[in-house]
Amino acid sequence: MSFLYRARPPNFETKNIMFDISIFQDTETAFALKTDAEIERAYWLFSLIQNQPLVKLGKAVANFALKHHFPVEGIIRTTVFDHFCGGVTEEDTLPVVDKLFSKGVYSILDYSVEGAETEEDFARAFNKTKHLIEFASKRKEIPFAVFKPTGMGAFAIYEKVSAGADLSPEEQTKWEKIRSRYYNLFVAAREHDVPVMVDAEETWMQKAVDDLLEDLMYEFNRNKPYVINTLQMYRKDRLDYLKELFDRTQSKGVKLGIKFVRGAYMEKERERAEEMGYPSPICDTKEDTDRNYNAALRFMMDNIDKDVLIYNGSHNEESNLLLANLTEEKGLQRNDPRIWFGQLYGMSDNITFNLAKLGFNASKYIPFGPVKDVMPYLIRRAEENTSIAGQTNRELRLLEMERKRRKLM
Ligand SMILES: Cc1cc2nc3c(=O)[nH]c(=O)nc-3n(C[C@H](O)[C@H](O)[C@H](O)COP(=O)(O)OP(=O)(O)OC[C@H]3O[C@@H](n4cnc5c(N)ncnc54)[C@H](O)[C@@H]3O)c2cc1C
Repeated sequence: MSFLYRARPPNFETKNIMFDISIFQDTETAFALKTDAEIERAYWLFSLIQNQPLVKLGKAVANFALKHHFPVEGIIRTTVFDHFCGGVTEEDTLPVVDKLFSKGVYSILDYSVEGAETEEDFARAFNKTKHLIEFASKRKEIPFAVFKPTGMGAFAIYEKVSAGADLSPEEQTKWEKIRSRYYNLFVAAREHDVPVMVDAEETWMQKAVDDLLEDLMYEFNRNKPYVINTLQMYRKDRLDYLKELFDRTQSKGVKLGIKFVRGAYMEKERERAEEMGYPSPICDTKEDTDRNYNAALRFMMDNIDKDVLIYNGSHNEESNLLLANLTEEKGLQRNDPRIWFGQLYGMSDNITFNLAKLGFNASKYIPFGPVKDVMPYLIRRAEENTSIAGQTNRELRLLEMERKRRKLM
Protein backbone atom coordinates (compact mmCIF):
# COMPACT_ATOMS: atom_id res chain seq x y z
CA MET A 1 0.00 0.00 0.00
CA SER A 2 1.51 3.28 -1.00
CA PHE A 3 -0.44 5.67 1.21
CA LEU A 4 -1.18 5.76 4.85
CA TYR A 5 -3.71 7.71 6.84
CA ARG A 6 -3.44 8.78 10.39
CA ALA A 7 -5.34 5.67 11.34
CA ARG A 8 -4.90 3.37 14.28
CA PRO A 9 -2.19 0.77 13.93
CA PRO A 10 -3.48 -2.54 12.60
CA ASN A 11 -5.19 -4.25 15.51
CA PHE A 12 -7.69 -6.69 14.07
CA GLU A 13 -6.46 -9.34 11.68
CA THR A 14 -9.25 -10.48 9.44
CA LYS A 15 -9.97 -14.12 9.87
CA ASN A 16 -12.13 -14.76 6.85
CA ILE A 17 -15.14 -14.65 9.12
CA MET A 18 -18.40 -14.17 7.24
CA PHE A 19 -20.52 -11.88 9.36
CA ASP A 20 -24.29 -11.92 9.25
CA ILE A 21 -26.81 -9.20 9.87
CA SER A 22 -27.05 -10.07 13.56
CA ILE A 23 -23.84 -8.08 14.17
CA PHE A 24 -26.05 -4.98 14.03
CA GLN A 25 -28.46 -6.18 16.72
CA ASP A 26 -26.17 -5.63 19.71
CA THR A 27 -27.94 -2.65 21.28
CA GLU A 28 -25.73 -2.58 24.36
CA THR A 29 -22.78 -1.70 22.09
CA ALA A 30 -24.88 0.53 19.83
CA PHE A 31 -26.10 2.76 22.67
CA ALA A 32 -23.21 2.44 25.12
CA LEU A 33 -22.66 6.22 25.10
CA LYS A 34 -26.28 7.10 25.70
CA THR A 35 -27.61 7.78 29.19
CA ASP A 36 -31.06 6.45 30.08
CA ALA A 37 -32.48 9.94 29.56
CA GLU A 38 -30.91 10.15 26.09
CA ILE A 39 -32.36 6.77 25.17
CA GLU A 40 -35.80 8.00 26.22
CA ARG A 41 -35.36 11.24 24.29
CA ALA A 42 -34.29 9.36 21.14
CA TYR A 43 -37.31 7.06 21.45
CA TRP A 44 -39.65 10.01 21.86
CA LEU A 45 -38.01 11.87 18.96
CA PHE A 46 -38.23 9.01 16.47
CA SER A 47 -41.84 8.33 17.52
CA LEU A 48 -42.69 11.96 16.69
CA ILE A 49 -40.71 11.91 13.45
CA GLN A 50 -42.70 8.90 12.31
CA ASN A 51 -45.80 11.03 12.26
CA GLN A 52 -45.94 12.86 8.90
CA PRO A 53 -48.55 15.54 9.75
CA LEU A 54 -46.65 16.31 12.93
CA VAL A 55 -43.35 16.76 11.07
CA LYS A 56 -45.08 19.12 8.64
CA LEU A 57 -46.56 21.10 11.49
CA GLY A 58 -43.27 21.11 13.42
CA LYS A 59 -41.44 22.40 10.35
CA ALA A 60 -43.92 25.24 9.84
CA VAL A 61 -43.94 26.23 13.52
CA ALA A 62 -40.15 26.11 13.87
CA ASN A 63 -39.57 28.15 10.71
CA PHE A 64 -42.16 30.73 11.72
CA ALA A 65 -40.86 31.00 15.26
CA LEU A 66 -37.22 31.37 14.22
CA LYS A 67 -38.06 33.91 11.54
CA HIS A 68 -39.92 36.06 14.04
CA HIS A 69 -37.25 35.65 16.69
CA PHE A 70 -39.47 33.77 19.13
CA PRO A 71 -37.34 32.21 21.87
CA VAL A 72 -37.55 28.65 20.55
CA GLU A 73 -33.83 27.99 20.08
CA GLY A 74 -33.60 26.47 23.56
CA ILE A 75 -36.36 23.96 22.86
CA ILE A 76 -34.92 23.03 19.47
CA ARG A 77 -31.47 22.64 21.01
CA THR A 78 -32.43 20.29 23.78
CA THR A 79 -34.56 18.12 21.53
CA VAL A 80 -33.77 17.61 17.88
CA PHE A 81 -30.57 19.70 17.62
CA ASP A 82 -28.64 17.90 20.35
CA HIS A 83 -29.70 14.54 18.97
CA PHE A 84 -28.57 15.19 15.38
CA CYS A 85 -25.86 17.88 15.77
CA GLY A 86 -22.55 18.17 17.57
CA GLY A 87 -22.84 21.82 18.57
CA VAL A 88 -22.72 25.36 17.26
CA THR A 89 -18.96 25.64 16.71
CA GLU A 90 -16.27 23.10 15.87
CA GLU A 91 -14.91 23.52 19.39
CA ASP A 92 -18.34 22.56 20.80
CA THR A 93 -18.17 19.23 18.98
CA LEU A 94 -14.95 18.12 20.70
CA PRO A 95 -16.59 16.42 23.71
CA VAL A 96 -18.73 14.45 21.24
CA VAL A 97 -15.66 13.65 19.12
CA ASP A 98 -13.79 12.38 22.20
CA LYS A 99 -16.71 10.31 23.42
CA LEU A 100 -17.13 8.67 20.04
CA PHE A 101 -13.43 7.93 19.79
CA SER A 102 -13.52 6.24 23.20
CA LYS A 103 -15.60 3.61 21.37
CA GLY A 104 -13.31 3.58 18.32
CA VAL A 105 -15.59 5.78 16.20
CA TYR A 106 -14.07 8.55 14.02
CA SER A 107 -15.72 11.93 13.44
CA ILE A 108 -16.17 14.00 10.33
CA LEU A 109 -17.23 17.55 11.06
CA ASP A 110 -19.84 18.85 8.68
CA TYR A 111 -20.45 22.60 8.72
CA SER A 112 -24.12 22.29 7.86
CA VAL A 113 -25.11 25.86 7.24
CA GLU A 114 -27.30 25.80 4.15
CA GLY A 115 -28.91 28.32 1.86
CA ALA A 116 -25.72 30.31 1.16
CA GLU A 117 -26.47 32.89 -1.53
CA THR A 118 -24.06 35.78 -1.42
CA GLU A 119 -20.33 35.98 -2.18
CA GLU A 120 -19.82 36.74 1.53
CA ASP A 121 -21.62 33.51 2.46
CA PHE A 122 -19.40 31.55 0.07
CA ALA A 123 -16.25 33.22 1.36
CA ARG A 124 -17.31 32.38 4.91
CA ALA A 125 -17.92 28.71 4.05
CA PHE A 126 -14.56 28.59 2.27
CA ASN A 127 -12.73 30.02 5.31
CA LYS A 128 -14.57 27.68 7.63
CA THR A 129 -13.70 24.62 5.53
CA LYS A 130 -10.07 25.67 5.30
CA HIS A 131 -10.00 26.07 9.05
CA LEU A 132 -11.63 22.66 9.48
CA ILE A 133 -8.90 21.05 7.40
CA GLU A 134 -6.29 22.49 9.78
CA PHE A 135 -8.46 21.57 12.76
CA ALA A 136 -8.70 17.95 11.56
CA SER A 137 -4.97 17.73 10.91
CA LYS A 138 -4.33 18.12 14.64
CA ARG A 139 -6.73 15.35 15.64
CA LYS A 140 -6.38 11.71 14.76
CA GLU A 141 -10.07 11.28 15.63
CA ILE A 142 -11.02 13.39 12.57
CA PRO A 143 -9.70 11.68 9.44
CA PHE A 144 -11.41 13.74 6.69
CA ALA A 145 -12.84 17.15 5.98
CA VAL A 146 -15.97 17.68 3.91
CA PHE A 147 -17.84 20.40 2.04
CA LYS A 148 -20.92 20.90 -0.07
CA PRO A 149 -20.56 22.38 -3.58
CA THR A 150 -23.37 24.91 -3.09
CA GLY A 151 -21.58 26.22 -0.01
CA MET A 152 -18.76 27.42 -2.27
CA GLY A 153 -20.79 29.04 -5.04
CA ALA A 154 -24.22 29.67 -6.49
CA PHE A 155 -26.31 26.75 -7.69
CA ALA A 156 -27.18 28.69 -10.87
CA ILE A 157 -23.52 28.92 -11.89
CA TYR A 158 -22.94 25.18 -11.45
CA GLU A 159 -26.15 24.59 -13.38
CA LYS A 160 -25.07 26.74 -16.32
CA VAL A 161 -21.61 25.21 -16.46
CA SER A 162 -23.15 21.72 -16.28
CA ALA A 163 -25.41 22.54 -19.22
CA GLY A 164 -22.47 23.87 -21.25
CA ALA A 165 -24.20 27.28 -21.47
CA ASP A 166 -22.32 30.48 -22.23
CA LEU A 167 -21.45 32.48 -19.13
CA SER A 168 -21.67 36.25 -18.96
CA PRO A 169 -18.41 37.98 -17.91
CA GLU A 170 -19.83 38.36 -14.41
CA GLU A 171 -20.79 34.68 -14.23
CA GLN A 172 -17.39 33.71 -15.57
CA THR A 173 -15.78 35.61 -12.69
CA LYS A 174 -18.00 33.78 -10.21
CA TRP A 175 -17.12 30.42 -11.74
CA GLU A 176 -13.41 31.27 -11.56
CA LYS A 177 -13.92 32.11 -7.89
CA ILE A 178 -15.52 28.72 -7.28
CA ARG A 179 -12.65 26.98 -9.05
CA SER A 180 -10.07 28.87 -7.05
CA ARG A 181 -11.86 28.08 -3.77
CA TYR A 182 -11.74 24.37 -4.56
CA TYR A 183 -8.11 24.61 -5.65
CA ASN A 184 -7.06 26.38 -2.47
CA LEU A 185 -8.92 23.91 -0.30
CA PHE A 186 -7.07 21.01 -1.89
CA VAL A 187 -3.75 22.82 -1.51
CA ALA A 188 -4.57 22.97 2.22
CA ALA A 189 -5.72 19.32 2.17
CA ARG A 190 -2.39 18.16 0.78
CA GLU A 191 -0.35 20.47 2.99
CA HIS A 192 -2.14 19.25 6.14
CA ASP A 193 -2.55 15.67 4.97
CA VAL A 194 -6.34 15.68 5.36
CA PRO A 195 -8.33 14.24 2.43
CA VAL A 196 -11.51 16.15 1.62
CA MET A 197 -14.83 14.64 0.56
CA VAL A 198 -17.15 16.75 -1.57
CA ASP A 199 -20.89 16.08 -1.27
CA ALA A 200 -23.04 15.33 -4.31
CA GLU A 201 -26.18 17.33 -5.01
CA GLU A 202 -28.77 17.56 -7.84
CA THR A 203 -27.97 15.98 -11.24
CA TRP A 204 -28.46 19.21 -13.15
CA MET A 205 -25.64 20.94 -11.33
CA GLN A 206 -23.41 17.94 -10.65
CA LYS A 207 -21.52 17.67 -13.96
CA ALA A 208 -19.68 20.93 -13.27
CA VAL A 209 -18.57 19.53 -9.91
CA ASP A 210 -17.59 16.14 -11.33
CA ASP A 211 -15.45 17.68 -14.07
CA LEU A 212 -13.81 20.13 -11.73
CA LEU A 213 -13.01 17.42 -9.19
CA GLU A 214 -11.66 15.10 -11.86
CA ASP A 215 -9.20 17.80 -12.95
CA LEU A 216 -8.21 18.32 -9.33
CA MET A 217 -7.67 14.57 -8.86
CA TYR A 218 -5.05 14.68 -11.60
CA GLU A 219 -3.21 17.39 -9.73
CA PHE A 220 -3.63 16.33 -6.10
CA ASN A 221 -4.16 12.56 -6.04
CA ARG A 222 -0.74 11.39 -7.20
CA ASN A 223 0.25 9.71 -3.94
CA LYS A 224 -2.99 9.64 -2.07
CA PRO A 225 -6.65 10.49 -2.80
CA TYR A 226 -6.95 13.95 -1.26
CA VAL A 227 -9.80 14.77 -3.66
CA ILE A 228 -12.76 12.51 -2.92
CA ASN A 229 -15.92 12.85 -5.00
CA THR A 230 -19.35 11.49 -4.04
CA LEU A 231 -21.33 9.17 -6.29
CA GLN A 232 -25.08 8.80 -5.78
CA MET A 233 -25.81 5.25 -6.79
CA TYR A 234 -29.57 5.92 -7.24
CA ARG A 235 -28.51 7.43 -10.57
CA LYS A 236 -28.76 5.10 -13.54
CA ASP A 237 -25.49 6.35 -15.01
CA ARG A 238 -23.17 6.20 -12.00
CA LEU A 239 -21.82 2.67 -12.25
CA ASP A 240 -20.59 3.30 -15.80
CA TYR A 241 -19.24 6.67 -14.72
CA LEU A 242 -17.35 5.03 -11.86
CA LYS A 243 -15.72 2.49 -14.18
CA GLU A 244 -14.77 5.15 -16.73
CA LEU A 245 -13.40 7.45 -14.05
CA PHE A 246 -11.41 4.58 -12.60
CA ASP A 247 -9.87 3.85 -16.04
CA ARG A 248 -9.02 7.50 -16.60
CA THR A 249 -7.43 7.95 -13.17
CA GLN A 250 -5.48 4.72 -13.66
CA SER A 251 -4.16 5.81 -17.01
CA LYS A 252 -3.02 9.10 -15.47
CA GLY A 253 -1.43 7.31 -12.54
CA VAL A 254 -3.52 8.95 -9.81
CA LYS A 255 -5.51 7.48 -6.93
CA LEU A 256 -9.28 7.36 -6.96
CA GLY A 257 -11.25 8.13 -3.79
CA ILE A 258 -15.04 7.88 -3.75
CA LYS A 259 -17.70 8.41 -1.13
CA PHE A 260 -20.68 6.25 -2.04
CA VAL A 261 -24.23 7.20 -1.10
CA ARG A 262 -27.60 6.16 -2.47
CA GLY A 263 -28.73 9.77 -2.98
CA ALA A 264 -30.90 12.25 -1.13
CA TYR A 265 -32.89 14.09 -3.82
CA MET A 266 -35.00 11.34 -5.38
CA GLU A 267 -38.41 13.02 -5.32
CA LYS A 268 -37.05 16.32 -6.56
CA GLU A 269 -35.14 14.60 -9.38
CA ARG A 270 -38.18 12.63 -10.54
CA GLU A 271 -40.49 15.65 -10.37
CA ARG A 272 -38.16 17.81 -12.43
CA ALA A 273 -37.66 15.10 -15.04
CA GLU A 274 -41.41 14.71 -15.39
CA GLU A 275 -42.08 18.42 -15.52
CA MET A 276 -39.41 19.03 -18.13
CA GLY A 277 -40.12 15.85 -20.08
CA TYR A 278 -36.79 14.06 -19.93
CA PRO A 279 -36.23 10.47 -18.71
CA SER A 280 -35.70 10.26 -14.97
CA PRO A 281 -32.00 9.88 -14.14
CA ILE A 282 -32.97 7.88 -11.02
CA CYS A 283 -33.24 4.10 -10.92
CA ASP A 284 -36.81 2.90 -11.42
CA THR A 285 -36.87 0.80 -8.27
CA LYS A 286 -35.19 0.60 -4.89
CA GLU A 287 -33.86 -2.83 -5.87
CA ASP A 288 -32.08 -1.29 -8.89
CA THR A 289 -30.50 1.32 -6.61
CA ASP A 290 -29.39 -1.37 -4.16
CA ARG A 291 -27.93 -3.48 -6.97
CA ASN A 292 -26.02 -0.50 -8.34
CA TYR A 293 -24.77 0.45 -4.91
CA ASN A 294 -23.48 -2.99 -4.04
CA ALA A 295 -21.98 -3.46 -7.51
CA ALA A 296 -20.00 -0.24 -7.00
CA LEU A 297 -18.67 -1.48 -3.65
CA ARG A 298 -17.65 -4.78 -5.26
CA PHE A 299 -15.97 -2.96 -8.16
CA MET A 300 -13.91 -0.86 -5.76
CA MET A 301 -12.97 -3.85 -3.62
CA ASP A 302 -11.93 -5.77 -6.75
CA ASN A 303 -9.53 -2.90 -7.41
CA ILE A 304 -8.37 -2.32 -3.86
CA ASP A 305 -4.83 -3.24 -4.83
CA LYS A 306 -4.80 -0.05 -6.95
CA ASP A 307 -5.13 1.92 -3.71
CA VAL A 308 -8.63 3.18 -4.31
CA LEU A 309 -10.34 4.71 -1.30
CA ILE A 310 -13.91 3.66 -0.45
CA TYR A 311 -16.14 5.65 1.90
CA ASN A 312 -19.42 3.82 2.39
CA GLY A 313 -21.94 6.51 3.45
CA SER A 314 -24.99 4.43 4.18
CA HIS A 315 -27.46 3.32 6.83
CA ASN A 316 -28.28 0.20 4.88
CA GLU A 317 -27.33 -2.88 6.90
CA GLU A 318 -26.89 -5.11 3.83
CA SER A 319 -24.42 -2.73 2.17
CA ASN A 320 -22.41 -2.28 5.35
CA LEU A 321 -22.36 -6.02 5.88
CA LEU A 322 -21.26 -6.56 2.29
CA LEU A 323 -18.29 -4.22 2.64
CA ALA A 324 -17.29 -5.79 5.98
CA ASN A 325 -17.46 -9.27 4.47
CA LEU A 326 -15.52 -8.27 1.36
CA THR A 327 -12.79 -6.93 3.65
CA GLU A 328 -12.69 -10.30 5.42
CA GLU A 329 -12.84 -12.27 2.21
CA LYS A 330 -9.83 -10.43 0.81
CA GLY A 331 -7.86 -10.97 3.99
CA LEU A 332 -7.38 -7.21 4.54
CA GLN A 333 -6.93 -5.55 7.91
CA ARG A 334 -10.30 -4.46 9.24
CA ASN A 335 -8.93 -0.97 9.74
CA ASP A 336 -7.34 -0.83 6.31
CA PRO A 337 -6.95 2.92 5.63
CA ARG A 338 -8.57 2.53 2.21
CA ILE A 339 -11.92 1.31 3.56
CA TRP A 340 -14.30 3.49 5.59
CA PHE A 341 -17.84 3.24 6.88
CA GLY A 342 -19.96 6.29 7.74
CA GLN A 343 -23.35 7.12 9.18
CA LEU A 344 -24.94 10.38 10.27
CA TYR A 345 -24.72 11.43 13.91
CA GLY A 346 -27.97 10.51 15.65
CA MET A 347 -28.82 7.70 13.26
CA SER A 348 -27.96 4.02 12.85
CA ASP A 349 -25.72 3.76 15.91
CA ASN A 350 -26.28 0.01 15.70
CA ILE A 351 -24.19 -0.03 12.51
CA THR A 352 -21.46 2.45 13.47
CA PHE A 353 -20.71 1.22 16.99
CA ASN A 354 -20.86 -2.47 16.17
CA LEU A 355 -18.53 -2.04 13.18
CA ALA A 356 -16.14 -0.02 15.36
CA LYS A 357 -16.19 -2.73 18.03
CA LEU A 358 -15.20 -5.28 15.42
CA GLY A 359 -12.26 -3.05 14.47
CA PHE A 360 -13.50 -1.50 11.20
CA ASN A 361 -12.97 2.18 10.33
CA ALA A 362 -16.38 3.42 11.41
CA SER A 363 -17.20 7.12 11.41
CA LYS A 364 -19.96 9.60 12.06
CA TYR A 365 -20.77 12.72 10.06
CA ILE A 366 -21.29 15.36 12.76
CA PRO A 367 -23.24 18.38 11.57
CA PHE A 368 -22.70 21.62 13.44
CA GLY A 369 -23.59 25.30 13.10
CA PRO A 370 -25.94 27.93 14.56
CA VAL A 371 -29.34 26.43 15.38
CA LYS A 372 -31.32 28.47 12.88
CA ASP A 373 -28.80 27.82 10.07
CA VAL A 374 -28.83 24.06 10.49
CA MET A 375 -32.66 23.96 10.51
CA PRO A 376 -32.84 22.94 6.82
CA TYR A 377 -30.53 20.03 7.63
CA LEU A 378 -32.64 19.02 10.64
CA ILE A 379 -35.87 19.29 8.70
CA ARG A 380 -34.41 17.07 5.96
CA ARG A 381 -33.46 14.48 8.57
CA ALA A 382 -36.98 14.54 9.99
CA GLU A 383 -38.59 14.34 6.55
CA GLU A 384 -36.22 11.62 5.39
CA ASN A 385 -36.98 9.57 8.49
CA THR A 386 -40.68 10.06 7.88
CA SER A 387 -40.42 8.92 4.27
CA ILE A 388 -37.94 6.08 4.85
CA ALA A 389 -40.39 4.47 7.23
CA GLY A 390 -38.32 1.30 7.39
CA GLN A 391 -35.35 3.11 8.89
CA THR A 392 -37.39 4.84 11.58
CA ASN A 393 -39.07 1.58 12.50
CA ARG A 394 -35.65 0.05 12.85
CA GLU A 395 -34.45 2.88 15.12
CA LEU A 396 -37.55 2.51 17.28
CA ARG A 397 -37.27 -1.28 17.44
CA LEU A 398 -33.61 -1.08 18.53
CA LEU A 399 -34.32 1.64 21.09
CA GLU A 400 -37.14 -0.47 22.44
CA MET A 401 -34.81 -3.46 22.75
CA GLU A 402 -32.35 -1.29 24.66
CA ARG A 403 -35.07 0.16 26.90
CA LYS A 404 -36.08 -3.39 27.78
CA ARG A 405 -32.49 -4.44 28.36
CA ARG A 406 -32.02 -1.47 30.73
CA LYS A 407 -35.40 -2.17 32.30
CA LEU A 408 -36.64 1.31 31.41
CA MET A 409 -40.02 -0.08 30.37
C1 LIG B 1 -22.21 9.68 5.78
C2 LIG B 1 -23.27 10.06 4.78
C3 LIG B 1 -23.01 11.04 3.84
C4 LIG B 1 -23.98 11.39 2.89
N1 LIG B 1 -23.69 12.32 1.91
C5 LIG B 1 -24.58 12.53 0.90
C6 LIG B 1 -24.25 13.33 -0.22
O1 LIG B 1 -23.16 13.88 -0.34
N2 LIG B 1 -25.18 13.49 -1.20
C7 LIG B 1 -26.42 12.87 -1.15
O2 LIG B 1 -27.22 13.01 -2.10
N3 LIG B 1 -26.76 12.14 -0.09
C8 LIG B 1 -25.88 11.92 0.93
N4 LIG B 1 -26.22 11.12 1.98
C9 LIG B 1 -27.62 10.61 2.10
C10 LIG B 1 -27.81 9.35 1.26
O3 LIG B 1 -27.74 9.68 -0.11
C11 LIG B 1 -29.16 8.66 1.49
O4 LIG B 1 -30.21 9.55 1.25
C12 LIG B 1 -29.39 8.09 2.86
O5 LIG B 1 -28.20 7.67 3.46
C13 LIG B 1 -30.35 6.88 2.74
O6 LIG B 1 -29.76 5.82 2.02
P1 LIG B 1 -29.14 4.53 2.75
O7 LIG B 1 -28.15 3.86 1.89
O8 LIG B 1 -28.65 4.99 4.05
O9 LIG B 1 -30.40 3.61 3.10
P2 LIG B 1 -31.58 2.86 2.39
O10 LIG B 1 -32.73 3.02 3.31
O11 LIG B 1 -31.20 1.49 1.99
O12 LIG B 1 -31.90 3.63 1.05
C14 LIG B 1 -32.77 4.70 0.91
C15 LIG B 1 -32.34 5.36 -0.37
O13 LIG B 1 -32.57 4.47 -1.49
C16 LIG B 1 -32.98 5.21 -2.64
N5 LIG B 1 -34.35 4.80 -2.98
C17 LIG B 1 -35.40 4.68 -2.14
N6 LIG B 1 -36.52 4.31 -2.80
C18 LIG B 1 -36.18 4.18 -4.09
C19 LIG B 1 -36.91 3.87 -5.29
N7 LIG B 1 -38.21 3.59 -5.24
N8 LIG B 1 -36.22 3.84 -6.47
C20 LIG B 1 -34.91 4.11 -6.52
N9 LIG B 1 -34.16 4.44 -5.43
C21 LIG B 1 -34.78 4.48 -4.24
C22 LIG B 1 -32.90 6.69 -2.23
O14 LIG B 1 -31.62 7.13 -2.56
C23 LIG B 1 -33.11 6.64 -0.73
O15 LIG B 1 -32.53 7.76 -0.06
C24 LIG B 1 -25.26 10.76 2.93
C25 LIG B 1 -25.52 9.78 3.89
C26 LIG B 1 -24.54 9.41 4.80
C27 LIG B 1 -24.86 8.34 5.79
